[in-house]
Amino acid sequence: MSKKKPRPTPVPAAFIPNLTDAHTHLASCGARTAEEVAALMDRARTAGVRRVCTVGDGLAEAQLALEAATGHQDVFAACAIHPTRAHELDEDARAHLRAMACDPNCVAIGETGLDTYWIKHDPHNTAALDVQEEALRWHIDLACESGKALMIHNREADEDLLRVLGDAPRPVETILHCFSSPWAVADVALERGYVLSFAGNVTFKRNDELRAIAKAAPIEQIVIETDAPYMTPEPYRGARNESALIGHTAQVIADVRGVKVEDFAECVSRNFDRIYGLA
Ligand SMILES: [Zn+2]
Ligand SMILES: [Zn+2]
Repeated sequence: MSKKKPRPTPVPAAFIPNLTDAHTHLASCGARTAEEVAALMDRARTAGVRRVCTVGDGLAEAQLALEAATGHQDVFAACAIHPTRAHELDEDARAHLRAMACDPNCVAIGETGLDTYWIKHDPHNTAALDVQEEALRWHIDLACESGKALMIHNREADEDLLRVLGDAPRPVETILHCFSSPWAVADVALERGYVLSFAGNVTFKRNDELRAIAKAAPIEQIVIETDAPYMTPEPYRGARNESALIGHTAQVIADVRGVKVEDFAECVSRNFDRIYGLA
């Protein structure tokens, strides 16, 4: 009889000061109350994480993200309706999001963007592409009006995304979260001044092209994220992710860039503060 090998429990990399997590989902990681947020942030701080941005993907989740940010000095929030739920962006939701965008703890509008993956795989449970594009344009306007960073989700929609971002008004900062696109897209994005946010998939064995992009991108245009509870970096791929594990991703990028991970984390930390308008 063959026994399945138990998956190792993920542990943080050795302590690395000045780590930041530019995109996580605290509520989906099980941290919904102030106590749960504090416990998760304590584990993160032990690994060297100084600040995180938690994302609310719908009205209820955005409210939770704002509450987490209000209750913890190292947590900041991003608010939006996720592209796969773009059909939920009615007048009422717009009014709520406009109010949330004014909150000083809301540092970004996102994640918004385009997602054709679920249109191909489960079309009845996701928004149509034209509905997603309209919602994306509305969120871009909100980022411009509020002066907050725009946080973009892009799944299998490179061409349409670059078209919309190219002809829409330009927010103060544009972050391409969980950047996973090929060189051609990275070239355009970097040329336009967007920020590439690298997640755990930059550590996956087959993603040589993504590591090459992370090596070549100007340091001012890089942040790192967990997208937790998903996208767990190697050597814990497939396990549950959280901010405390961001050091593994930082280490892989620092290694390909040939710099000390402490120096890389410090530069990225300054980017985090600049992009999110923090002191
Ligand atoms: Zn996303
Ligand atoms: Zn996300």
